[in-house]
Amino acid sequence: MSDVFTKAKRSEVMSRIRSRGNRATELALAKLFRRHKITGWRRHVKIQMTGGRRQVTGKAPVSAVSPTRRHRPFAVRPDFVFPRLKLALFVDGCFWHGCPRHATHPKNNRGFWRRKLLGNRTRDLLVNGALRRANWRVLRIWECALEQRPQACLRRVQKWLSVEN
Ligand SMILES: [Zn+2]
Repeated sequence: MSDVFTKAKRSEVMSRIRSRGNRATELALAKLFRRHKITGWRRHVKIQMTGGRRQVTGKAPVSAVSPTRRHRPFAVRPDFVFPRLKLALFVDGCFWHGCPRHATHPKNNRGFWRRKLLGNRTRDLLVNGALRRANWRVLRIWECALEQRPQACLRRVQKWLSVEN
């Protein structure tokens, strides 16, 4: 693959983008929770998935989905976890997770980015499926929704917390 960055440099660049975008959004949600007395959550708790037969079908681009290799146990680390209720909450960055309204595709290294972003979306679906099979409920909130309509997001979470499994 031709790439302007070396491997190490690229992963450094990417981790910087990731941490900048996501951390701010997660902190905003944590703040919202505290302000509205939503408790029982923890951040970045590791949930061990057992792997297993139904994890990955032959059609999925397995190579792009490193944490969920076929037949292998893997760990999921949702942005917020409500352990007692078995709820997993993700705040998805618009760029990294392909928000329908704000997904952009960088013009440089098009092939790399297409694979990378497609891999992210595929992994999100696999993670959702694995969690649900393990009797977790999963909620994903877009970064942009949280920025633009925090109250609506809050209501969505509250509703989700009040529904019995
Ligand atoms: Zn968006």
